[in-house]
Amino acid sequence: MDKLTSCKTCSKEVAQSATVCPHCGAKLKMNHIEKLVLYVIVSYVAIFLLATFGVKWSK
Ligand SMILES: [Zn+2]
Repeated sequence: MDKLTSCKTCSKEVAQSATVCPHCGAKLKMNHIEKLVLYVIVSYVAIFLLATFGVKWSK
């Protein structure tokens, strides 16, 4: 049997293996592509901030 978790949107119990809440239809998990995109965006922002502040601090 699936472990249960609670939906962040409607706070009802949902199977942990479910990707979409059966009660309210909210997405419960990010898929691999979304995680990869988020990781890339975070990396770019981190590099941009490091470059920007790195230049300021070195002067
Ligand atoms: Zn829900």
